[in-house]
Amino acid sequence: MDAPPTLVEVAVPLPVFHTFTYRVEGVRRPVPGSRVLVPFRTGERVGWVVGPSDPAESGTRSGIRPLLDVLETSPSATPEVMALAHWMSEYYAAPLGLVLRSVLPSVLSDAGRDVLVRTASPAPLEPMPAAARRVLAAVEGAGGRGTVRGLRPTMGRGSPWPGIRWLTEAGLLDHHAEPPREPPLRTRKVVRVLEPAPDLLDRETVFGRAGRQRECFEWLESAGGDRELAQVTGEDGFSRGVVSGLEAKGLVEVAEEEVLRDPFLGRDAPEPPPDLRPTPAQASAIGELVAALDQENPVPFLLHGITGSGKTLVYIELLREVVERRGRTAIVLVPEIALTPQTVHRFRAWFGDAVAVLHSGLSDGERYDEWRQLREGAKRIVVGARSALFAPLPDLGAIVVDEEHDGSYKQSESPRYHGRDLAVLRAVRSGAVCVLGSATPSLESWRNAREGKFRLLQLPERVGGGTLPPVEVVDLRRLREGGGADRSGGTGAPGSAGPAGPAGPTRAEEAAGSAGLADSAGTILSPRLVGAVHARLGRGEQVILLLNRRGYASFVQCRACGEVAECPNCSVSLTYHRGRRRLLCHHCRHEEPAPVRCPRCGDTDLSWRGLGTEQVERAVSETFPTARLARMDVDTTGGKWAHAEILGRVARREVDILLGTQMIAKGLDFANVTLVGVVNADVGLHLPDFRASERTFQLLSQVAGRAGRGPLGGEVILQTSLPEHYAIQCALTHDYEGFAGRELAEREHPTYPPHLRLVNVVLSSPEAELAASGAEKAVAWWRAHCVAGVELVGPAPCPIERLHGRWRWHFFLRGGGVNAMSRALRTFLEHGDLPSGDLRVAVDRDPVALL
Ligand code: ADP
Ligand code: ZN
Repeated sequence: MDAPPTLVEVAVPLPVFHTFTYRVEGVRRPVPGSRVLVPFRTGERVGWVVGPSDPAESGTRSGIRPLLDVLETSPSATPEVMALAHWMSEYYAAPLGLVLRSVLPSVLSDAGRDVLVRTASPAPLEPMPAAARRVLAAVEGAGGRGTVRGLRPTMGRGSPWPGIRWLTEAGLLDHHAEPPREPPLRTRKVVRVLEPAPDLLDRETVFGRAGRQRECFEWLESAGGDRELAQVTGEDGFSRGVVSGLEAKGLVEVAEEEVLRDPFLGRDAPEPPPDLRPTPAQASAIGELVAALDQENPVPFLLHGITGSGKTLVYIELLREVVERRGRTAIVLVPEIALTPQTVHRFRAWFGDAVAVLHSGLSDGERYDEWRQLREGAKRIVVGARSALFAPLPDLGAIVVDEEHDGSYKQSESPRYHGRDLAVLRAVRSGAVCVLGSATPSLESWRNAREGKFRLLQLPERVGGGTLPPVEVVDLRRLREGGGADRSGGTGAPGSAGPAGPAGPTRAEEAAGSAGLADSAGTILSPRLVGAVHARLGRGEQVILLLNRRGYASFVQCRACGEVAECPNCSVSLTYHRGRRRLLCHHCRHEEPAPVRCPRCGDTDLSWRGLGTEQVERAVSETFPTARLARMDVDTTGGKWAHAEILGRVARREVDILLGTQMIAKGLDFANVTLVGVVNADVGLHLPDFRASERTFQLLSQVAGRAGRGPLGGEVILQTSLPEHYAIQCALTHDYEGFAGRELAEREHPTYPPHLRLVNVVLSSPEAELAASGAEKAVAWWRAHCVAGVELVGPAPCPIERLHGRWRWHFFLRGGGVNAMSRALRTFLEHGDLPSGDLRVAVDRDPVALL
């Protein structure tokens, strides 16, 4: 009989690629994927057992230390998750320990959350080791319960773990990980603006010299009329006295308010599932998916269904088959879940408490609870943002990725994985059916479907015979000629920019925003759009207005010397937020008071350029003073459930006009919305990024799809300065295939994904010189270690040259074999021979954005 291997490899969440070897001694032999506590340098760390050590490599080494403890009886990284983590570590060039930490609930990587509880067993009569006695005394002294970290000072010197182990084995202590509990909040204090608010012109007299009060009042107005008191006096920076002053003037009230309940929790009586009979197109898609459940290795599906074609019902019927009839489990990925309560509600209506919802509003403890219930089989469907992909579900039958084109499936920090790609991988490996659904599939998925790697399912019509709404263009250039504002330039070159693309606002953006503060509503909302909104308001119908840029004006420029206010930490202009009367950086959150004169030449003639949602809000409320308006963007949705709350008001028809950024473009299904207006369709079209056209087309198609979802029909009005651009032209005719064909051709020369694979390597440093020389050295390394088929492009400064105080350079690696590239990336990160100093290297494989 072989002696059990006594050496194991442990992945520790640190930025190093290799694993660490430990001896297994006096503890249970841990299976791979188990969480263990290891001595590390002078302290302790949590890591995951990867497997037994290779005796050839570790057998002769001395000084190998023993594991302190095995923290769980069944591994938190299930074999499936462990295999995914290994793949991610290699493909995305990220250390395994860091990958595991990022895909598992965060409480698991923190040994400080380990709790010791005295059991009911009486202390034994026989003597116990001194180490155990000290620990037992400490736990009993704390009333029979405490965290390892909290009890540490009372447990004496040296490691408490041998003692803890002795006591747990003797049955005197129970030891497990436990997340912190949030105190149950029931009510909170809210400051609310009282109506009628003083007229803008009257404010001088109302506030007089109480400038802070006025600022606070207008900040509250811009935040939608109410805000939590703790926020106002905390992060917003107003004193309680300022709020009291406003109360005394009768302008605001401070009220206790019931805390909004988690809209995704199933505490309401579950709605009964709607009685829907699938349309022939839905039935045929469902039939193919269900048939694939019987196949050994089903090919992934791409479900291309236009907006309103009923994709959700297809997912639900597949899940019913998987979960109800076959007793298996399923994962549903949705983008930024806080934005799509409607989708979540539909799954809950069908599957009730079998659904775990993992979203960003959960505390660590709540997240861990859901995770445990999935692992124990108490819940069998998980609906969530990208990390739900790592749910510990046994016997997985299906993975659905809704809105598969969405950029939020890509993680922006290491490991920079793509949730959609990993969904396909996990499904293929576990023999599950994978469905990627979208009205505007990513070009990657579209190409895979064209080449037969995915099977294409189509829902070409809206349910119930409805048609896609007609889209009409308003040419902003003509509007400006009429309105007397600046005329904009030409159309510019669409599409791809490589390293060395232009930075800062492009000509098209400047033109789009050339109207100043004194701008009339007439150049923001065209007469055509105003007329259409009026007609809707008159009939009691609802309107959605999109402008994908927040704030009031996206930059402030001195007319005398041309100076633009820039962020001190980033190479971008500062956005003027009128409600707060401040300039903000949307990247690093730097803020400063709005200037009254140019900091360079002192001139007071400042122009406020680049239209944002705050400015549109003002124009809309001036033009439609009686309409009930809600603005939804990052600035009005700070609270945990703010999105759901605003959408709830829209659903109850308490809002006539919903204005917002791309947040309002996805997943909303309101039958009473009969008009969608795009205030400026060109925002983002000229960003120096090869996906700029694709993103614009997707956004316009998605928001257009919010109109006319009910029997009332609908229309879309799209204001643009670039009516000839193909992204806009194809959005006008709802022509996805036309767009995809043209865009695929645009990406042939120079070649961009999906025609090849791309790696974006970014080097950053607080010293401009170091970032540049680091990039030069890195490129030299790649030239010397050429990988077959890989082409190097760059280096060049990133389009956003400086971010969070760091100068940034980048280069591309294009093409090459998948595995050879993985190996080369790791070698580069470990031995790339870069200059020393504060220089960071970020490797982004299959990037979704290059800024
Ligand atoms: P998509 O996600 O494709 O844009 P949804 O799944 O939101 O579309 O469906 C659009 C609307 O059609 C929803 O209100 C849904 O309840 C309804 N619907 C879907 N399928 C059917 C059906 N077979 N019969 C009647 N209504 C349906
Ligand atoms: Zn900044």
